[in-house]
Amino acid sequence: GDDSALLRLRDLDVTYGRAVRAVRAVSIEVPHGAVVAVLGANGAGKTSLLRAVSGTLPLHGGTVDGGRITVEETALTGRDPAAAVRAGVVQVPEGRRVFAGLTVAENLRAGTLGLRGSGRAARISTALDRVFALFPVLADRRGQRAGLLSGGEQQMLAIGRALMAEPRLLLLDEPSLGLAPRMVSLIAEVITEINRQGVGVLLVEQNAATALRLARHAYVLDVGRVRLAGPAARLAATDEVRRLYLGEA
Ligand code: ATP
Repeated sequence: GDDSALLRLRDLDVTYGRAVRAVRAVSIEVPHGAVVAVLGANGAGKTSLLRAVSGTLPLHGGTVDGGRITVEETALTGRDPAAAVRAGVVQVPEGRRVFAGLTVAENLRAGTLGLRGSGRAARISTALDRVFALFPVLADRRGQRAGLLSGGEQQMLAIGRALMAEPRLLLLDEPSLGLAPRMVSLIAEVITEINRQGVGVLLVEQNAATALRLARHAYVLDVGRVRLAGPAARLAATDEVRRLYLGEA
């Protein structure tokens, strides 16, 4: 138990219906100021883990039926997405879902719907400046419909929209999926910068090479269980990770 953890998952169990045990007794910590990666093959349980933290599991027919989720002092186990957002937890779903018929600016504005507290207008304006500084292309295209953006630009918009909600912890689900290598590097740089600005990041990736470069700590999930865990540099050097997840001989 590290008292400085931003996110702490303890013995988490996730199921869908009666038969599918997607996550089993998983314990994971994201320290303050860290990028933590969760790796694993298709179906390992990575997305289910993020849904449990963001409170969106019931929307997909799943439940947390064991363990605890805490963000600093706030218990999030079994809470809804609004509670997660209030605690500063925001998920960027897989597949860069943006509102295709809305403009870039309208998509970003949609990220602020859960914002509470005083000085809302000023905070939104600050957040917008920050997103446009991170992704200048979004500023250039603010009036354009999101459906007309490239895949990489839509991923930027999905991340930008999440940042508009003032997250303390960003949950990223496969941000590099289907993107060209140049775009993967750009997104990786931006994740590092967002983290440098004080946001904790829990990054789910099948692209182990990118994730292990970005992250301080990493966990490897296999059929719902933590199979390996440790400092990212150390995991990247193990035979098992090199062979199974980095595609080396
Ligand atoms: P992927 O990269 O394909 O998203 P993953 O590691 O994120 O893989 P999950 O999507 O969390 O894995 O899936 C874990 C297990 O839960 C799999 O057996 C999957 O079939 C099952 N599962 C995921 N979503 C649902 C759902 N909505 N209903 C029923 N079973 C589901």
